[in-house]
Amino acid sequence: MAYDLIVIGSGPGGYVCAIRAAQLGLKTAVVEKSATFGGTCLNIGCIPSKALLYASELFEEAGHVFAKMGIGVSTPKLDLPAMMAFKDQGVEGNVKGVAFLFKKNKIDTFRGTGRIAAPGKVEVKAEDGATQVVETKAIVIATGSDVAPLRGVTIDEKHVVSSTGALTLDKVPEKLLVVGAGVIGLELGSVWRRLGAEVTVVEFLDRVVPGIDLEVGKQFQRLLQKQGITFKLSSKVTGVTNSGAKLTATIEPAAGGAAETIEADIVLVAIGRIPYTEGLGLEGVGVNKDNRGRVVVDAHYQTNVPGIYAIGDVIAGPMLAHKAEDEGVAAAEIIAGKAGHVNYGVIPNVIYTYPELASVGKTEEELKEAGIAYNVGKFPFTANGRAKVNMTTDGFVKILADAKTDRVLGVHILSADAGNMIAEAAIAMEFGASSEDIARTCHAHPTLTEAVKEAAMAVEKWSISM
Ligand SMILES: Cc1cc2nc3c(=O)[nH]c(=O)nc-3n(C[C@H](O)[C@H](O)[C@H](O)COP(=O)(O)OP(=O)(O)OC[C@H]3O[C@@H](n4cnc5c(N)ncnc54)[C@H](O)[C@@H]3O)c2cc1C
Repeated sequence: MAYDLIVIGSGPGGYVCAIRAAQLGLKTAVVEKSATFGGTCLNIGCIPSKALLYASELFEEAGHVFAKMGIGVSTPKLDLPAMMAFKDQGVEGNVKGVAFLFKKNKIDTFRGTGRIAAPGKVEVKAEDGATQVVETKAIVIATGSDVAPLRGVTIDEKHVVSSTGALTLDKVPEKLLVVGAGVIGLELGSVWRRLGAEVTVVEFLDRVVPGIDLEVGKQFQRLLQKQGITFKLSSKVTGVTNSGAKLTATIEPAAGGAAETIEADIVLVAIGRIPYTEGLGLEGVGVNKDNRGRVVVDAHYQTNVPGIYAIGDVIAGPMLAHKAEDEGVAAAEIIAGKAGHVNYGVIPNVIYTYPELASVGKTEEELKEAGIAYNVGKFPFTANGRAKVNMTTDGFVKILADAKTDRVLGVHILSADAGNMIAEAAIAMEFGASSEDIARTCHAHPTLTEAVKEAAMAVEKWSISM
């Protein structure tokens, strides 16, 4: 049976692409090698990590905040298997949702590893080794990414774990060593700290979350330190040995110098992710990759081989589920003869710790480097009525606007619920709003979003509540 489109991979890039293609009338199939649909995001990424972040945040609140609000509860007790079951239930609901959507949109599914045998031909190898070749007009590669390895350290997913192992630990480690102060390391480090682990984060660079606005990142780090996370910046882990009872990690200054050792029960390697193209047969059909192993595409997501497209973590750009989804929609629309498009200037980035750190657009450092004159408006949550009453006054909003035109160029929010609040900034930027547009838009009272409005007012120095 011939298809208009075969999508290889059913993560947020692949499943969204397939559904949009089916909506547009393309006869579509998806090939997935894992037992469940949904890719990294639904199975071992966004969804399970957010389930554990949510549960562990409530656990911490029950222990530390409830009494201050007059809610008397006995000291909360952790039932880790039950918390893991709660997480698994959330994952199951989500992956079943994708299977339902495939059926609803009449998308055929093939279980097995997809290999591009030739343009227009995808070979699917099932787990039992049986193969079949399926014909199609177009192919979208949406095979995502995998854990980046750390030289000198072997991940066994028991003691030395990747994010995948850190989502399924069967007991709270006494000491957790996190390698990498990026989004994944800080989110999972937060989960296990809240549940009782002593957490040390080692980072090669001299700052946490590279790429984040420096001022916001510094305050973020201070707040995480106040919660008990220890940071060793400008340092690198060069080896981990397992003595049976404990792990010993060797840590050296990034610039070179005397090594030290740290003991841990669990080491989490979270230094990033790399594009995944194993077994796809790209060399055979001549699809180009760049020097970082990413599939190279043009502005229409097409590779150098006509009819073969790629989206999501496997191509360049931020490795984020919503970026993959938007590329999935755009690629499907382009393949269907429409004008698909993604605005890479307005892709929000969220770290779901407490407080959350959400940003969209440019950082101050990027504007300086580009020589763009800008104005800054800031507003702290200590001056926001809702934050005060909720006792969530950590953090601030920072808005960067073009000095000449007042167009909003970047918004950075460090606060409880920042991940939800960043949506208004993204919409404003998508519509080319000025800071004054945000400042003069009526925001409901009392909400945390009033801090966004006040930061916009502060750009032209007329913030009322400060
Ligand atoms: C712990 C963690 C937390 C994260 N949290 C967030 C978050 O909060 N927000 C966010 O935006 N992003 C988050 N991410 C990143 C997000 O998961 C990825 O950006 C997203 O999943 C990428 O989507 P994708 O469709 O490109 O690929 P993936 O989701 O990786 O899906 C690729 C799919 O392709 C399949 N596949 C691969 N090769 C083949 C083949 N040859 N044949 C058949 N199938 C194949 C794989 O089995 C997989 O199902 C997180 C990641 C991790 C690891």
